[in-house]
Amino acid sequence: HCPVGALQERDDTGKVFDALADPKKITVVQIAPAVRAAWAEYYHLDPKFATAQRMVTALKQIGFDYVFDTDFAADLTIMEEGSEFIHRFTHRDRYTWPMFTSCCPGWVRFVKSQFPRFVGNLSTAKSPQQMFGAVAKSYFAEKIGVDPHDIFVVSVMPCIAKKSECAQPTMTDACGDADVDVVLTTREMVRMFRGEQILPATLTETPFDSPLGTGTGAAVIFGSTGGVMDAALRTAYHMITGSNPDPDAFSAVRGMDGWKEARFTIPGAGTVRIAVVSGLANTRHLMRALEKGEVSYDFVEVMACPGGCAGGGGQPIHDNMELAESRGNVLWALDKAEPVRFSHENPDVAALYRDYLGSPMSPRAHHLLHTDHNGWKMPSEK
Ligand code: SF4
Repeated sequence: HCPVGALQERDDTGKVFDALADPKKITVVQIAPAVRAAWAEYYHLDPKFATAQRMVTALKQIGFDYVFDTDFAADLTIMEEGSEFIHRFTHRDRYTWPMFTSCCPGWVRFVKSQFPRFVGNLSTAKSPQQMFGAVAKSYFAEKIGVDPHDIFVVSVMPCIAKKSECAQPTMTDACGDADVDVVLTTREMVRMFRGEQILPATLTETPFDSPLGTGTGAAVIFGSTGGVMDAALRTAYHMITGSNPDPDAFSAVRGMDGWKEARFTIPGAGTVRIAVVSGLANTRHLMRALEKGEVSYDFVEVMACPGGCAGGGGQPIHDNMELAESRGNVLWALDKAEPVRFSHENPDVAALYRDYLGSPMSPRAHHLLHTDHNGWKMPSEK
């Protein structure tokens, strides 16, 4: 029995086929960053050919009305989480340290069940998948003039724990319905492609739909260990100094070591001590060291799966092969190739703040994009 809910697999493809067949439903699908690095492995396609845009074509052929990119919401997460970190960092006495990332539901469940005294250290920012759902059922529904209850949001994730995340009672902020209706793993999406006799080798490319389909290089690296920290530091640096750092200035957070540490100096803020950890055994070591006072940090990224989401429990499985590193390298290469590598430069995220949310951490942003980690209980909690 997996203690963090990352391995209880079930098949939800039937619910998605039912929604696609329902003429009253407006079907919206989002694709997580790590999925694009792995979806075509069963078809033995070159990663350079197996682009996210070919996945868009396949999902359109299956019948989705809108195909969007979780990268958009990853950039949004950085705007909220980066702002939250700066707020905490500049009001140090009001908080306990370090601040932890909150985008991995396997980690959130782990800390709630194993180290509950640290729950208050989690960022209150929802994960990108949940932020996406909340924005789809509010801003996007308004933009296209439909009742948000008619929008059916599907996520394609590298992750099984995302299925329980979207079912939490606290993840219903946009219209009272769940922000995300169904989570499919990468494997389930491929099962749907097979059921619909889609041949990926023959697909042409289709761009993501707008306005929730734009992502930056900083967003795509969410799928690899160190990526969230790297992206957050890029934007936090800009928020503090008013200018961009070299996008590779924080590369010490990259790589497959299970527990990485670094210190960065940000003019005007001082030295920020960070750690990046992946895999729950490494996480347990780090948490025990924190409890004993052997280490201290300002900001810690935790991913439950070794190597991060690229090696997530919902990704294709190949006997005796561990592909988190090579998939992660695909994502870092995509970041390098992106013309925009800063979340705060995502034009669609900027439009969302200008037209709807106001600013990061505004009351509306807080209502839609943040959560109370104490607002739901693990099965083991009384
Ligand atoms: Fe899911 Fe693993 Fe990624 Fe965490 S690290 S969000 S459990 S795939």
